[in-house]
Amino acid sequence: MKQIPMLDLRLEYEYMKAEVDARIGKCLEHQKWILGPEVEEFERAVAGYLKVDNCIGVSSGTDALLIALRALAIKTKGQEYFDAADEVITTPFTFTATGDAILRAGAKAVFVDIEPGTFNIDTSQMRSYLAGENKVVGIIAVHLYGQSCNMDKIMKIAREHNLFVVEDVAQAFGGRWGEKKLGTIGDAGAFSFFPSKNLGGFGDGGMIATNDGQTAELARMLLKHGGRDKYNVEHIGYNSRLDTLQAAVLLAKFKYVDKFNENRRKIARVYTEGLCGISGLACPVEYPNTYHVYHQYTVRIAAGRRDEIKGKLAKRGADSVVYYPLPLHKMKVFAGRAAAGSNLEQAERASQEVLSLPIEPLLGEQEQLFVCRNIRELLS
Ligand SMILES: *Cc1c(COP(=O)(O)O)cnc(C)c1O
Repeated sequence: MKQIPMLDLRLEYEYMKAEVDARIGKCLEHQKWILGPEVEEFERAVAGYLKVDNCIGVSSGTDALLIALRALAIKTKGQEYFDAADEVITTPFTFTATGDAILRAGAKAVFVDIEPGTFNIDTSQMRSYLAGENKVVGIIAVHLYGQSCNMDKIMKIAREHNLFVVEDVAQAFGGRWGEKKLGTIGDAGAFSFFPSKNLGGFGDGGMIATNDGQTAELARMLLKHGGRDKYNVEHIGYNSRLDTLQAAVLLAKFKYVDKFNENRRKIARVYTEGLCGISGLACPVEYPNTYHVYHQYTVRIAAGRRDEIKGKLAKRGADSVVYYPLPLHKMKVFAGRAAAGSNLEQAERASQEVLSLPIEPLLGEQEQLFVCRNIRELLS
C-alpha cells in the first residue's frame, strides 16, 4: 500500500476531471481573465447555497478576513483603519492569518482561551474579559477543524457589548450552526479556497459573505483598489480579485462539496469507532447543534507521546499533521501587538497534544482502518 497522504488532490481531480477541464476550456475560449463571468456566477452560486444576500470573491482567505475588517472599520468608525488601541477578541489556537488580519486592519488582538472539547473559543472567558475594563470593538469567531463555535452565545455577547462579529470560515465551508450555514451568522464570514480546504481551488482564493449591504459595497471597493472606479478611488484598497480561472475550477468542484463533506463525516465515524477507548487518546466530539464538516479529524494524544506517535505512524505508512504547533500568542509577530484576555493554558496544552489524521474525502475504507489499527498498536 502506498503512503496514505493527508489529502490526495490528484485523486479528486481525476474524479471530476471532465467538469473541471470543461470549465477551464471555457475560460480559454473567452479570455476574460480579470473578473470574468465565472467570478460572478460563482459568487451567485455560493450566495444561494449559503442563503446570504452578498458573496464577494477575493484573492485569499487572508484577504477575506482583512477586507471584512477594513470594511467594518470604515463602516463603524468612519476611518480607514482601526485605532491601535481598538481590541479584537479571537482565539490563539488558529492559523496565523486570523490574528495577522487584526494587526493589518490596525487593531490589537486579544487572545482568549479555548474550550478543551471543541478547540474553539471559550465564551465564558470572553465574558470575563469583557466584564473588566477593555476597548473591544469586535470578535473573530474561528470555526476550527470544521466545527462551529457556539454562535448563540457569541452573538448574544456581541449584542450586549455592541461588537461586530467576523466568522473565520476558512475550515468550515458547508458547516452549520443549527439550520444556519456558517459565515452567515455574524456581520461577515471569511472563506478560503486554498487548495486543501473543504472547497479548494487550484491556487489561492477567498470570499466574503455578508447580509449587510454597506459592508458588501465597501468590500467590493477595497478589493479593487478602494473605489467603484479604479481611476478615482476613495479608500486605501488592494488588488485582491478572485481569479477567473480559480472561480471556474471552484464552480466545477462546488457541485461535490456537500457529498465530500458527507464523506469526511463518514471517515470521522470510522475513525471514532476504531479509535475510541484507546487509553492516552481522545477523539473529537461533535457538539449538539453543529454540523461538523471535519476539515480535520483531530485527536489528542496525551503525556508527551504525540510527536513519537506521529513519527512512527509515518514510518508505518500514514501521514498526519500538527495543526497548530504554536499558539499565536507565542509568535514574535504578536509580541507587543496583542494581549492575553485570559490565561491561555488550554490553547498551549492543545498545541502539545493535537494530531490531525488523513481525511481525504475519497480515502478508501481499507486505508481508514489501517490508520486506526496502527494508532491502536502504537499506543498499546
Ligand atoms: C487557511 C486559513 C486562513 C487563510 O486562508 P488563505 O486562503 O490561506 O489565505 C485563515 N484562517 C484559517 C483558520 C485558515 O485555516
